[in-house]
Amino acid sequence: MFSSEFDVIEKYFKSSARRDDVVLGIGDDCAVLEVPDGKQLLSSSDTLIAGVHFPEDTDAGDIAAKALAVNLSDLAAMGAVPAWVSLAITLPEQDPLWLQEFSSALHAEISKQGLQLIGGDTTRGALSVTVQVMGFVDRGKAMLRSNAKAGDLVCVSGSLGDAALGLQIKQGEVSVAAEDAAYFLQRLNRPQARVELGLTLADICRCAIDISDGLFADLGHILKASGCGATIELDKLPLSQPMRRYLEEANDAINVYELMRGDDYELCFTVSGKLVSDIDEIAASLELPINCIGIIDEGSGLRCVDPAGNSIDTSHSGYDHFSHG
Ligand code: ADP
Ligand code: MG
Repeated sequence: MFSSEFDVIEKYFKSSARRDDVVLGIGDDCAVLEVPDGKQLLSSSDTLIAGVHFPEDTDAGDIAAKALAVNLSDLAAMGAVPAWVSLAITLPEQDPLWLQEFSSALHAEISKQGLQLIGGDTTRGALSVTVQVMGFVDRGKAMLRSNAKAGDLVCVSGSLGDAALGLQIKQGEVSVAAEDAAYFLQRLNRPQARVELGLTLADICRCAIDISDGLFADLGHILKASGCGATIELDKLPLSQPMRRYLEEANDAINVYELMRGDDYELCFTVSGKLVSDIDEIAASLELPINCIGIIDEGSGLRCVDPAGNSIDTSHSGYDHFSHG
């Protein structure tokens, strides 16, 4: 396959940022890692497959950054401080330029976040990237899907639907002004995991999820795990300015909830109504919008209402690998 699999590891992956809690990194059969006292270790991994999770012609740097971001987003959702990364990569061929772009983007993101690449696996086959990220929370402090309580507010960070529209733009199904297209594509290719938000929320919230499959699907996971229901006001869905421009131009031809298909990597969390002012302060200090879009109730399942209070069926949105064949 390669000049040698070991040359690839040595050349592109070995020189990673260093952390004190990594006793032994890349090079032996396992990494040896030191978990800080009083902390719990959280671990998440996600696979991105060419043609399934990203179009085949996606830039190598974008693939690397996204593979890391989607995992950091999972850690953020539970309020964890990320620390260690491992990478299992399957490559169709040895392409030095591709590997250079991929690895430099990966290392750049890893050092920006103060992480270390501690190991992985390198194989040949159709392009696929599996990143695992591990991090810590104070014992018992992880935010869980199962902790929503009737009466809690449902809040969402950032804006929704941008990446889904970015994909339609990339696939030539939709066109918008060049500057807005650049924004949507950036949201698709370079999602920013809300790590700091997750860490801050963990002090005051017990329940969160990251929005990877679409708001309705992911909030549905919270409701199922918590054994409760929720009502969402559709006019409160947070939308970016470019999205508002797009919807205005499309007039009524688009239902915005059809764009709630995932890849947002924002956080959805539930919080006691008494803490609204804390949430506003967090939003201001992180310069990240946080919107309350609904309320948890004692029922079951998700009800979405329009401004007139009519129920709207949003059950067909959201991404599911097995229902999309
Ligand atoms: P083993 O055969 O014992 O599983 P490998 O030969 O697959 O070990 O890997 C050698 C070392 O390189 C290990 O420490 C492994 O974690 C690391 N490694 C392999 N591939 C990657 C990669 N893509 N990124 C980072 N580390 C890697
Ligand atoms: Mg071994």
